[in-house]
Amino acid sequence: MMRITLSEAFFFYATLSLAFLFILWLFFYSKRRRLEKRRIFICRFCQQKVELEPGQITLRCPRCNAIQNVEMKV
Ligand SMILES: [Zn+2]
Repeated sequence: MMRITLSEAFFFYATLSLAFLFILWLFFYSKRRRLEKRRIFICRFCQQKVELEPGQITLRCPRCNAIQNVEMKV
């Protein structure tokens, strides 16, 4: 039977917990990215994709400077 030292055990534990946290972060990050992708609005004048803030009703296009209302399709 192989025995490991305390520092090796700690290193192993730290690596595992870090890997677990990283996987958890990746999971929530990809979930958030998917949610953000739904809040992309396409300008009806120049087809520029504009990201929307939550609760935003009016939008100013960064390319053609047009102000337009955002209608949420439910
Ligand atoms: Zn535009």
